[in-house]
Amino acid sequence: MTPPVLRTLPDLRAATAPWRARAESIGVVPTMGALHDGHLSLVEAARAACDRVIVTIFVNPRQFNDPADLDDYPRTEAADAAKLARFGIDLLYVPDAEQIYPPRFATSVTVAGLTDVLCGAHRPGHFDGVATVVAKLFLQTGATDAFFGEKDFQQLQVVRRMAVDLDIPVAVHGCPTIREIDGLAMSSRNLLLSDRARTRAPRLHAEMEEIARGLAQGRAFDALRREAVARLEAAGFTRVDYLEIRANDDLGLLDAPTRPARLFAAAWLAGVRLIDNIPL
Ligand code: AMP
Repeated sequence: MTPPVLRTLPDLRAATAPWRARAESIGVVPTMGALHDGHLSLVEAARAACDRVIVTIFVNPRQFNDPADLDDYPRTEAADAAKLARFGIDLLYVPDAEQIYPPRFATSVTVAGLTDVLCGAHRPGHFDGVATVVAKLFLQTGATDAFFGEKDFQQLQVVRRMAVDLDIPVAVHGCPTIREIDGLAMSSRNLLLSDRARTRAPRLHAEMEEIARGLAQGRAFDALRREAVARLEAAGFTRVDYLEIRANDDLGLLDAPTRPARLFAAAWLAGVRLIDNIPL
């Protein structure tokens, strides 16, 4: 059965009040919809860990720094609800924009430091939009637990920091990246790739794995990076925004994985910005 859909905060509060009264755990999976198996793996983790599960779908205008990207973003609510049917979730919360940003809304949550680098450096305002909407979704749902993908590792760390700093008592769980068989990280934006670009897209992950192998053999990152960028450009990627080793905890820049670290990449292919990261 498809889950009950709620669209307003009063309805959400009414539905969750009895759960809170019974001190049931409430797991929330925030998404922007166009659900794929990556999202569904978070739903599964939430279902396994929590008494109640709420999936949210909100295409958050404040985290889009490019209006065309917001317009193009896939919206597939009916199909999303159908995909959720087999998970037995308790609620699908699809707030109207006014539920999140009512008239005269004036507050923004900024997480400093972690957002200066990687996507934060390339997408002005993006993480303020993310931190603000996630804080609101945590407070609106009364979540005890929340599930985020390592696919967006920087986002995961920003959300963790935000929850701790604002004393929002939500345990933030990170879940592994789910990939297509050819290695491409699943993403709603993959729907925007042409057939031709789709066949080239897995190159990004392949080059990242190649760098990881090189590092494991003791090769210098600089040279590995240069070779990978050249091959990506030859494969049709038009720009590499970043291809960097950074520490897991503070996202500090490293030239080798001398402490727990990941390789992070963002690159443009046929007008679509792909991001990925892998542990080193
Ligand atoms: P989005 O709808 O893109 O905002 O993503 C919603 C949540 O799903 C975020 O926590 C993402 O990190 C997570 N997610 C997106 N793609 C994947 C994936 N391929 N594997 C695991 N989690 C993912």
